[in-house]
Amino acid sequence: MPYRGRFAPSPTGPLHFGSLVGALASYLDARAHRGAWLVRIEDIDGPRNVPGAAEDILAMLERFGMRADEPPIWQSTRTARYRQAFDALDRAGFVYPCGCTRKEIADSLLNAHARNTTLAYPGTCRHGLNGKPARAWRLRVPDGDAAIVTLDDRWQHAQTQNLATDVGDFVLKRADGQWAYQLAVVVDDADSGITHVVRGADLLDSTARQIYLQRCLGVATPAYLHVPVVVDEEGEKLSKQTGAAALDAGDPLPMLGIAARHLGLELGAPTRASRDAFYAQATALWAKRFVEAQETD
Ligand code: GLU
Repeated sequence: MPYRGRFAPSPTGPLHFGSLVGALASYLDARAHRGAWLVRIEDIDGPRNVPGAAEDILAMLERFGMRADEPPIWQSTRTARYRQAFDALDRAGFVYPCGCTRKEIADSLLNAHARNTTLAYPGTCRHGLNGKPARAWRLRVPDGDAAIVTLDDRWQHAQTQNLATDVGDFVLKRADGQWAYQLAVVVDDADSGITHVVRGADLLDSTARQIYLQRCLGVATPAYLHVPVVVDEEGEKLSKQTGAAALDAGDPLPMLGIAARHLGLELGAPTRASRDAFYAQATALWAKRFVEAQETD
């Protein structure tokens, strides 16, 4: 199957160094595979969107020399597809309404924690709402061994998560009426024919949920590669929310060099001459480490 990769920023602020690293990794992986690279604006979380941020991110990617092979996809235009996928899951009996408030879930988790049991959603509404109004809609995860999802991540290697004990039945449609990220990302990756997902390791924990959803929907599971997240001096992940500084696009080459170094790519002097030289060398180094080495595994 021809390679299709993507970068999927949420427009909650301008591109910062952490998201530049994610963009660069996915771009280099696509180029190293001679595949297509897509950009998807993850703007379904209405309340968190910052006006103008999406346009700003797209302009920055252009400035940094990362050009998508197809026009960008906007999640806000795709809600009918999320509804279709949700309805299919519902018809197949995977979905149930949940009437728990955040506080009720937090209280029951505190109790569970005190008893040293699970921190997953305790499944309070699995067998009915007990007269409470439906707030959110959850996907029922299996019990026993069927709940164990394994992943051979191309950077982080073998990963295992038990959906029943680590996560619990998870939300597909939120109490505020928004489609959950987990559902949207799986539907979008499948509809775009994404074969390889390359993104920050902060999303590693979501991957088992996404793989399980892919199985429920009968769509293919892409290969995954999660790059180490960039942290600040306090060890916090750099993010738009924590006010990470916006990038200066006036002189992209030094920033690209630092981002490449974060990805473990040791570039030589010629890359400082031009963006084209940078991408040629960075793609070759990435190919050696993540494409050729993995093909001979
Ligand atoms: N929109 C997500 C973020 O900006 C990334 C989603 C993904 O790559 O799957 O954190």
